[in-house]
Amino acid sequence: MPREVLNSIKVHSVKFNPMRTKYIFVTGGVISTLGKGITTSAIATLLESKGYKVTCVKCDAYVNIDAGTMNPTEHGEVFVTSDGVETDQDVGNYERFLHRSLSRVNYLTTGQVYQKVIERERNLEYGGRCVEVVPHVPEEVIRRLKEAAKRDDADIVIAEIGGTVGEYQNVLFLEADRLLKRESPDDVINMHVSYLPIPKSVGEMKSKPVQYSIRTLQSTGIQPEFVIARAERSLDDKRKEKIAVFGNVSYENIISNPDVASIYEIPLLFASDHLAEKIVKALRMPKASSSSRFGLTKWEHLARRIKNVRTPVRVGIVGKYFDTGEFILEDSYISVIEAIKHAAWRLNRKPEVQWLDSQEFETSSRALAKLNNFHAIIVPGGFGSRGVLGKIRAIEYARRRKIPYLGLCYGMQLAVVEFARNVLGKPRAHTEEIDSKTSDPVIHILPEQKQLMAKKQYGASMRLGSYECALTNGSLARSLYKKSVIHERHRHRYELNNKYREELENRGMSISGVNRERNLAEIVELKNHPFFVGVQFHPEFQSRPLEPHPLFLGLVKAGDGRV
Ligand code: GLN
Repeated sequence: MPREVLNSIKVHSVKFNPMRTKYIFVTGGVISTLGKGITTSAIATLLESKGYKVTCVKCDAYVNIDAGTMNPTEHGEVFVTSDGVETDQDVGNYERFLHRSLSRVNYLTTGQVYQKVIERERNLEYGGRCVEVVPHVPEEVIRRLKEAAKRDDADIVIAEIGGTVGEYQNVLFLEADRLLKRESPDDVINMHVSYLPIPKSVGEMKSKPVQYSIRTLQSTGIQPEFVIARAERSLDDKRKEKIAVFGNVSYENIISNPDVASIYEIPLLFASDHLAEKIVKALRMPKASSSSRFGLTKWEHLARRIKNVRTPVRVGIVGKYFDTGEFILEDSYISVIEAIKHAAWRLNRKPEVQWLDSQEFETSSRALAKLNNFHAIIVPGGFGSRGVLGKIRAIEYARRRKIPYLGLCYGMQLAVVEFARNVLGKPRAHTEEIDSKTSDPVIHILPEQKQLMAKKQYGASMRLGSYECALTNGSLARSLYKKSVIHERHRHRYELNNKYREELENRGMSISGVNRERNLAEIVELKNHPFFVGVQFHPEFQSRPLEPHPLFLGLVKAGDGRV
């Protein structure tokens, strides 16, 4: 049946969606860390602003089943979805741009694909045939992309292939891309994100590396329809012409993607190049049937505000970082940084985030005085013993000096340890994670975690994903969230020991959020303090640029005018 006829069919009140799912594959060339994830997210935002329903899938080449077992200083932040999957930080970017929660279908690794293929083979699902890397492995990738389309009811799936073309690692995803295009040529397009350097000695932008990376992509049987040209500056006609001619790409589909002040400008940048219209044309898509949740106007306002904010809000993040290098540092806590920015912009403040090495506070009390220069202090999530004493000292300083403090997961647990030591008078109080024999385990292991640890079952075994939390009437948390029941995402093995709850509350540390199902303390706060809140969960995962998180808003507001 021709598509026009299909389009006109309306079955009573049932929504009839005749549009076939379309797929955009995003590959990278020349160098890694080009911002493919941001490009993918920005394109999704732009297409959604036109009324299409878009979902994104990160295809990670690692053999790991998920990102939970990867060291964040090597791989970046582990982003947790509400259904409890430990994913790549790009899934966080997708959520922040789409303003929607994603799930397990949006994250795919080589490990997951092989695991499934092997499982199917064991279950005789291949009917006695030899199971081969090609086609069975890429077929599994395609099945997963289709599952994502179905689960998210998407008109368009954008599959971001991790790494760069030419790596052995991501060949199976490229093969899936090629096979899907072969199966439905009208429904699949390729976007190649590549890089044009401006070597200092030459002083001019060079297009040859992009030409090479397109060639490499072509050698896998894939012809990109679009090239997203990352560079310090916008491309001139000459470079576009060269890429078009040598890469076999139409001139208008070479899209400039220069460095910009904020990533949230990129959907607007692409809009000015009419990228959505070009994609719709290339995919032969009918007009979107629904109106968009977010038009671009809200993004325009945000971009303007980001450019105009002047009054700074300085937030110090206390962690154990200094042997990792700055770039990775930012990546390891990207959701925390973004959450600070979202809240600051909303309150017309210019966010300034500074890293504070907790180990410095262990050796020098003078270093602590630095904390006075900040509007607010955060101790983010973490694991292990390094730098813990320094974090506890910083928390003590923030508590006594009344510096607004937000503790995220480990930052909440260590706030309880500090309070137990210095207010309850239990100098040996600790978390069992660091001192399993402490006489005062104010933070102790969750019972099921004890068994898992004994069996060495580490993968995807923490308390993960979204759980309900009831807020206490009259608490700061209750007034910030403006509701009595919330859902927040978790990633931890330890929790506040209920044996100490009464004592803590009697001395001024109130439990203002509880998971009623298991009677777990999820939020602690102090009364005689402008803002001292510790949360067992990770609110940063749910903060979005156009919908900042109430706790971060509360923190930034509390710090206003402090220094
Ligand atoms: N290490 C702590 C735990 O496992 C905190 C984890 C975190 O900060 N995400 O409970």
